[in-house]
Amino acid sequence: MQKIPLPRFQFEQIGIIHSCYRQKFGIPRQPGIVKAAEAELELLSPYNQENLVRGLDVFSHIWVHFIFHKTMEEGWRATVRPPRLGGRERKGVFATRSTHRPNPVGTSVVELRGIRTGNGKMVLKLGAVDLLDGTPVIDIKPYLPYADALPEASGGFAPSPVTLFDVRFSDQAMARCAAYEQVTGRQLVQLIKEVLGQDPRPAYLRETTHRRHGTALWDINVVWESHGTYFLVTDLERLP
Ligand code: SAH
Repeated sequence: MQKIPLPRFQFEQIGIIHSCYRQKFGIPRQPGIVKAAEAELELLSPYNQENLVRGLDVFSHIWVHFIFHKTMEEGWRATVRPPRLGGRERKGVFATRSTHRPNPVGTSVVELRGIRTGNGKMVLKLGAVDLLDGTPVIDIKPYLPYADALPEASGGFAPSPVTLFDVRFSDQAMARCAAYEQVTGRQLVQLIKEVLGQDPRPAYLRETTHRRHGTALWDINVVWESHGTYFLVTDLERLP
């Protein structure tokens, strides 16, 4: 079958994500896993008008379509090793949620907590996301449970959520978290537990212990190490 000639597609960026994730290391592999990771979607001009979101506020969740802008220049791969399979098996890109796709488009279902306007800004308050800070958004649609929620669907090789690791804190790290939470009002302890709990290590580092890892959340570098059955947060460092 021949390709039908089409005009080249071009998408408009309609919004930008503001989230706690400043680097890919540590971002959950799907939204909803890290509940403490709330975020914002700021609509950009000329799409920052109330007209465009009229009626959206009565939906509890939305589909967010976005561009994997930080990996798109690396191109795509026909097969990838899903972290879910421990990096041991290859699957076709279209059988996975890999970021390295022929078209670098991602899709996430996220909770819509509210819509805020003011100062010429139009901001959707979101629940848990799996998106880098600065991610360009190309579309938003309401999530329709009657059509989109399919309880009988089969989850293939990712049938259920991953089990979370136990995350512990040194006294010093816990004290720093408490101080940070007091100043910012952010739930840092919970965020760290959920982010590290899902084991952000790439498959080839899964067997290592006592290796120092750093995970950036908001303006903090969380320093931690694996102790086999649990992870220990040893320190927090302020990022510039
Ligand atoms: N829910 C989406 C995304 C799954 S991939 C989908 O299924 O299409 C999720 C991973 O994308 C995250 O773990 C993070 O490593 C990566 N990611 C998030 N935002 C990104 C961005 N702007 N550019 C490149 N990679 C990104």
